Amino acid sequence: MLHVAVVGSGPSGVYAAQSLVQQDRVPDVRVDVLDRLPCPYGLVRYGVAPDHEKIKSLQNNLRTVLEHERVRFLGAVEIGPGALPPARLLGLYHAVVYCVGAAADRRLGVPGEDLPGSYSATEFVSWYSAHPDALADASAPDAFVRDVESAVVIGVGNVAVDVARMLLRGAAELLPTDMPHAALGVLAQSRVREVSMVGRRGPSQARFTTKELRELGALPDTEVLVDPAELALDPAYADPSGLPAASRRNVEVLRGWAERPARGLPRRLRLRFFLRPVALVAGAGGRVAGTRFERTLPDGRGGVTASGAYEDIPGQLVLRSVGYRGVPIEGLPFDPDRGTVPHAAGRVLRDGVPSPGEYVAGWIKRGPTGVIGTNRPCAKETAQSLLDDAPALVRRPLSGDPLTALRAAGQEPVEWPGWLAIEHAEAALGHSLGRGIVKIPDWAGLRTAAGGMRDTP
Ligand code: NAP
Repeated sequence: MLHVAVVGSGPSGVYAAQSLVQQDRVPDVRVDVLDRLPCPYGLVRYGVAPDHEKIKSLQNNLRTVLEHERVRFLGAVEIGPGALPPARLLGLYHAVVYCVGAAADRRLGVPGEDLPGSYSATEFVSWYSAHPDALADASAPDAFVRDVESAVVIGVGNVAVDVARMLLRGAAELLPTDMPHAALGVLAQSRVREVSMVGRRGPSQARFTTKELRELGALPDTEVLVDPAELALDPAYADPSGLPAASRRNVEVLRGWAERPARGLPRRLRLRFFLRPVALVAGAGGRVAGTRFERTLPDGRGGVTASGAYEDIPGQLVLRSVGYRGVPIEGLPFDPDRGTVPHAAGRVLRDGVPSPGEYVAGWIKRGPTGVIGTNRPCAKETAQSLLDDAPALVRRPLSGDPLTALRAAGQEPVEWPGWLAIEHAEAALGHSLGRGIVKIPDWAGLRTAAGGMRDTP
């Protein structure tokens, strides 16, 4: 038997587990999928926007893997120096695959970045996704959108599109989602009327995908405004035919919007380009009131140059959506420039040499790029490396069921029945509120719900 721990139950972790158990090269592979949270699915549960129900339904596929007879989910298990260091974890298993994603945000590095009213997009996403580590003050009844009429979203990737869309959705569209009840109440009461989403380069370099971009044009009561003169700074705007297909489609959608007459709808989404953030500016009371941008100009090689001309965009809420960043795990090597663990085909490299039994997959392996499906081949490559190494790995004897050792180390893992109990409690909560499933947003609530199953025979 080859016993493997996968750390992280998001798509890359689950796909790694799947590749390890659904193969016939190495017999009897068993996988424990560990997660810091009591709930599985990683960013599918805590990152995919609540109104993207179709993508969220991917949980059903991931669930099939976690219910496989040789896969065991162990939630609420913390890996790290104070809890279970990597060296100790490796002692419990033949191999460990780290699929811990990229948990931090990139910083802008501009003055005013931390003013009240300025948040990373991830903080906002965590809040509306019911992540139990969401900001403590996010439980305030008017969190994020208090006195906000205009918001600025910095960055033009898919996360920026998500947060802009969530700010502009109305109560009727949010009600059927599983978002936590407090956040639903806040967004339903929001007075945000204008959102500016701002890219530092041109429309042909925007990172969002066309399907997500188009969705913005379908938001009820919301007008998408683009300035044709600003778009035309991009040399590819006049004739996008030479662009890669994804960028060409984006430019075509933006052109369509630029040519559309204004309709005077109550909410506005302004898509801005060639503006580089240089400072967040405080208003009366010290809260952010606007963001100062410098106009940039294309350099002809996909980059931009500074122009020396500035523009302030008002906004009492700023969401910085400039990408994720991997976080080092003490005891594992880390490349701070890339925010990833150095590896060769998924094998963790220590001083340039593969470390026996240690592997990575997903964003901590390749950086925070790609859609959910990108994790499948990425995890498969890692699993292949591990299976190639299996004959040597299984020679090391293990001292019994790691679950016993985890408990002895002070961990209280939430097993699959505990997670099912959370699901059950979330359905009951939704029912009591006259909604569908409603997510539980706090650690205490999740722990209580997970414990509920223990009483059930
Ligand atoms: P992203 O795609 O890397 O986009 C980051 C954006 O921030 C880019 O526009 C980037 O501009 C900008 N940026 C970076 N540093 C900046 C700075 N200092 N000042 C101003 N702008 C800056 O990251 P993401 O949106 O966080 O998405 C992460 C991954 O998750 C992506 O692969 C994305 O597709 C995926 N995702 C997918 C979905 C979906 O499929 N529905 C939803 C959410 C996320 P530059 O290009 O100029 O660097």
